[in-house]
Amino acid sequence: MARLSVAKAEHLGRTLPLEVKSGLREFVLERKAVDDPQRAGPFEEDRLKDERRYQKALEQAFADLYRAVQRELRSTSNKDLFGGKAALTQDALEIVNNQQFWDKQAADFQSQMNDVVQMLLLRAAVDQPTRMGLAVDIDLVNQRVLELAGQYSNSWWRQLEGTTRDSLRTAIQSYIPTGKPIKDLVKNIEPLFGKRRAEMIAATEVTRLYAEGNRAGYAASGVEEVEWVTARDALVCDLCGPLDGKKWPLGQEEYVPPRHPRCRCTPAPVTDSKIAQELIAKIRRGGK
Ligand SMILES: [Zn+2]
Repeated sequence: MARLSVAKAEHLGRTLPLEVKSGLREFVLERKAVDDPQRAGPFEEDRLKDERRYQKALEQAFADLYRAVQRELRSTSNKDLFGGKAALTQDALEIVNNQQFWDKQAADFQSQMNDVVQMLLLRAAVDQPTRMGLAVDIDLVNQRVLELAGQYSNSWWRQLEGTTRDSLRTAIQSYIPTGKPIKDLVKNIEPLFGKRRAEMIAATEVTRLYAEGNRAGYAASGVEEVEWVTARDALVCDLCGPLDGKKWPLGQEEYVPPRHPRCRCTPAPVTDSKIAQELIAKIRRGGK
């Protein structure tokens, strides 16, 4: 029993590192690579609920960030002498370069997202593998979930901060020569903190959290191999379609979902568990 736990712990170590590579930068692009939201993996109902939870938390965090950005913009631009009518100057760019400001936002943002991140990772690491008939080593996985949550929050925020700062810089630079007032800029950047961005990020990030949580759960159940599972319907994109059914040793996967914004693919365990096999077969039958 003790030997098994050591083996699992070593195995778990191989599922590192978690890296947020995609899913944010592309948010302005139109939906072209889309997996069907109604074919949302083996735990479809949970997933759709979790997407809404994540989106709600993110919308709240975005709203606060938007307010902070507005305050900061106004404080650096002509002191807002004319009720928001003051034209932007180069000073407005200070918000992009002010690391102290962004560090403060990072802390606020991450603490607002923390609960939902941990909840989703736990669901994916403990609840889902258990429902697949796997025997998860709970002690092992709980520790791993905490590590993953920390890694995820940092890595994800850095991406989000980078994209947000880049977009702000572009917006401000294009506004300065026009002589338009701050309130026009504020309106123009609203989508950056808006519902549509939150919705898209939620769909992509639930896939990431589920995939990373699942992998930790599989590792803590002695699963050694994973298989890429798509919805296998006409909507599966060019990136994910060819990956369907590909198998890799856990921790040495060529890809881990998400492959693209709104990807809803899932890493399935290669296991003797009949329940898991049936769940996967069901996805491939189109949910029937
Ligand atoms: Zn996909």
